[in-house]
Amino acid sequence: LSERLSGVFDRLTKQGALSEEDVKTALREVRVALLEADVSLPVARDFVKAVQDKATGQAVTKSITPGQQVVKIVHDALIDVLKGEGEPGALKIDNPPTPILMVGLQGGGKTTTTAKLAKRLKEKDGKRVLMASLDVNRPAAMEQLAILGTQIGVDTLPIVKGEDPVAITKRAKTQAGLGGYDVYMLDTAGRLSIDEELMQQVEAVRDVVTPRETLLVVDGLTGQDAVHTAENFDERIGITGVVLTRMDGDGRGGAALSMRAVTGKPIKFVGLGEKMDALETFEPERIAGRILGMGDIVALVEKAQETIEAEQAEKMMKRMAKGQFNMNDLKMQLEQMIKMGGMQGMMGMMPGMGKMAKQVEEAGMDDKVLLRQIALIQSMTKKERANPALLQASRKKRIAKGAGMEVSDLNKLMKMHRQMSDMMKKMGKMGKGGMLKQAMK
Ligand code: GDP
Ligand code: MG
Repeated sequence: LSERLSGVFDRLTKQGALSEEDVKTALREVRVALLEADVSLPVARDFVKAVQDKATGQAVTKSITPGQQVVKIVHDALIDVLKGEGEPGALKIDNPPTPILMVGLQGGGKTTTTAKLAKRLKEKDGKRVLMASLDVNRPAAMEQLAILGTQIGVDTLPIVKGEDPVAITKRAKTQAGLGGYDVYMLDTAGRLSIDEELMQQVEAVRDVVTPRETLLVVDGLTGQDAVHTAENFDERIGITGVVLTRMDGDGRGGAALSMRAVTGKPIKFVGLGEKMDALETFEPERIAGRILGMGDIVALVEKAQETIEAEQAEKMMKRMAKGQFNMNDLKMQLEQMIKMGGMQGMMGMMPGMGKMAKQVEEAGMDDKVLLRQIALIQSMTKKERANPALLQASRKKRIAKGAGMEVSDLNKLMKMHRQMSDMMKKMGKMGKGGMLKQAMK
């Protein structure tokens, strides 16, 4: 498949602009890729349509080939859909004891995930957790949770024979309150398929505790069925998030996209094995790559972006070597620094800048400082940016005010500009720019 796609994109590469037809051709292949990853048909169709509308209006970025542009748009759009609001791994745990309800079909991984999550809450967040199994249909299921509890050092509600799920839930609620637990987790029974009895049972349980989180646990290998399951549980019970299990297998995880598209609920965690620590925070970027199943093309996208940056950097370096380092260049540098993990990271990579990196570190500069500096530059007029020598007292006042800062902040920025400008000139003179070439790598 990857080859087929590369083929299409190669053909696109040879054309000058990204026409509607180009986009359509490429997206036909993307649609196939999505279906092969078990994304449900209507979701794949809608996704492709949305990307097509978006792509067709866009101009092709200079130095990026049309094919790469399409890949980038597809990839970004996929991440956009997969990404929910808020932190992926975060759960709402406030008023203790906070109830968490685990729902899903039988064999999806509810019991395992309940224990994994309990372990995580205990170890990562320092929460006291109580787990209760409501699976009265299979006595072995209650035992299973109790055994896992012992294994991970998390309490489980004692098993009382003959109780129904609502009675167990009430007991769990009381016990969680009396025992001073932060969280109590309710592991419900599942069925092989959705049925009315199951839904009514879960509804009854939900109404007893009003869960703060209701997590739908879905087997990541189920593909098309996942949509149906998610739709049903969300309509009847109202889920707050999804846990996708068995992502350690060969499945491409298309269910993730389908469920996001259909329920709009965030995917919070991913199960990556049977072991108790095989639970990870959901990472949209990772799953996006997997669903598309073409890491090589994604790498292509990243390379394309680097190309633009390298080109810009080269232009800037040339200008700097001539002693033309203006505020636009500085702004670009600052933006780069944010991208590259802060000032220290960036300067540490440039020869001859180690000392400055240290100064920066001592000055306690972080992204916030960088953003403030960028704001100052944005407050300058075009002329001022191109020619910092223009910056006299009255202009300085206006610029600082415009950015909501003091003139002293601007002075600091200007000092930095001067220092960097001097350094660039020195470096430019050294070895006919050999040093600069080094720095650009
Ligand atoms: P439940 O019926 O929904 O409670 O499902 P269980 O928690 O009992 O899990 C069913 C089976 O799936 C068990 O054998 C688990 O060990 C296994 N399982 C659960 N989550 C994962 C996972 O993320 N990866 C793998 N490989 N197996 C899992
Ligand atoms: Mg179970």
